[in-house]
Amino acid sequence: MRQKLYIDGEWVDGEDFIAINKPYGMEKFAEIANASPEQVKRAINAAKQAQKTMKTMTNLERARILNQISVRLQERKIEAAEVIAMESGKPFKHALAEIERTIETYQFGAEEAKRLIGEMIPMDAALTGRGRVGYTIKEPIGTIGAITPFNFPQNLVAHKVAPAIAAGNSIVLKPATQTALSALLLAEIINQTDLPAGAFNVVTGNGTLVGDILVKSEEVDMITFTGSTVVGKSILKNAGLKKVSLELGSNAGVIITDGNNLERIAERCVSGAFSNQGQVCISLQRIYVLESLYSDFIRVFHEKTRELIIGDPLSPDTDVSAMITPKEQSRALEWIEEAQQYGAELVSGGIIEEEVLQPTILVNVPKKARLSCQEIFAPVVMVNKVSTLEQAIEEINDSIYGLQAGIFTQKISEAFYAQSHLEVGGVIINDIPTYRVDQMPYGGVKESGNTKEGIKYSIDEMTQSKLVVWNNS
Ligand code: NAD
Repeated sequence: MRQKLYIDGEWVDGEDFIAINKPYGMEKFAEIANASPEQVKRAINAAKQAQKTMKTMTNLERARILNQISVRLQERKIEAAEVIAMESGKPFKHALAEIERTIETYQFGAEEAKRLIGEMIPMDAALTGRGRVGYTIKEPIGTIGAITPFNFPQNLVAHKVAPAIAAGNSIVLKPATQTALSALLLAEIINQTDLPAGAFNVVTGNGTLVGDILVKSEEVDMITFTGSTVVGKSILKNAGLKKVSLELGSNAGVIITDGNNLERIAERCVSGAFSNQGQVCISLQRIYVLESLYSDFIRVFHEKTRELIIGDPLSPDTDVSAMITPKEQSRALEWIEEAQQYGAELVSGGIIEEEVLQPTILVNVPKKARLSCQEIFAPVVMVNKVSTLEQAIEEINDSIYGLQAGIFTQKISEAFYAQSHLEVGGVIINDIPTYRVDQMPYGGVKESGNTKEGIKYSIDEMTQSKLVVWNNS
């Protein structure tokens, strides 16, 4: 029950522990170690030493290690999904889908490890370039501190670990406290591969203590963070001159102008709004529908929402379960009540039953409600009517965030208009903004972040280009 830390290829006892309860049922199931400052420093030091070995390995050797991780995760797929369901409350079928995605993420990592290429520079395009040959080579950035959130405990860790190994870096991972068991399961898997001891370490514990040491350490060359905008901003302030990659929050929106496919669109919106209890960075929070389609859409959307099966995350049929903590559920309820006080109408949900905040739809939500302008990160979605596409785009852009946005349309001209006018990192045409696969460039603008993930793009972030110029004149 008491978990250890994974430092320098060894399991290390903690000195202090944090109790972890299941989100659904609140039963205590584990105690994770709250790493001491000395233990975090040991992990950083181990990573720094191991990076020297990583640097000597070939691309093929690192690709093989990533394949080994992928294969071993496949072998432990059910167990890994059950751990996610238990510690995060994510319904088992979604947890299994996350593991399947993650197996693929490590495969992408293995493939990209073989494609670490620099570029030729056309030196003689300059007045003084005659007789010179120039090119860049990609080198690892060094020791990477990775800090991850609770909502995709394997996949978002893979988005740090796979590109870091592919590029020849070493890592100290600080997973979210509530979902540390998934990271420790990954450590068990990695322990059985050929990765040099110390190249991957897991230090669990309090974000403001353990995370802060990583962020401030001068021995860490880069911080890659996924989590809330508030914490991301504080990391940026504390990190000094080291590189900081941030994947942060959002309140993603979709526009609906297609009246011919409302059944399918509503189904996709249910999935986007309520999967993992809406605790997804690109969860669908705001829906803008053309006036003429509004009442039909709400009727179908409501019907489909009522079909969701609610309950124990470990049951194979469950679609929606408890949020990460009762406190988070109460906060979401407060936001729902606030929206209603400002004049929004409740179509479904808005209540906690059997420990679960029921999937909630609100309509006609005014701007001043937090639901309209901040990130709720809960199974709550608003639907507002708009008169034009332009108005819908203005509404979506009127946000401090800009991760992804979607549009369902049958008109190419509308799709092109949306593509050029939406202020986001990714535009998804004829699907929800929640769509993501792991090799695509993914990342936001504004307060949603400052980087792109997706294995190839993360490798770009986790490497530095060294220029070489030959003088043949
Ligand atoms: P969080 O910001 O509370 O925590 C994320 C991680 O940071 C955890 O490991 C936590 O322990 C650590 N941490 C907390 N305080 C710290 C500090 N002062 N210094 C260093 N580390 C610290 O986020 P969360 O509640 O786990 O996740 C939800 C948030 O993550 C949402 O805002 C969501 O949108 C965002 N998110 C973004 C993406 C993306 O790719 N853009 C993906 C998933 C989640």
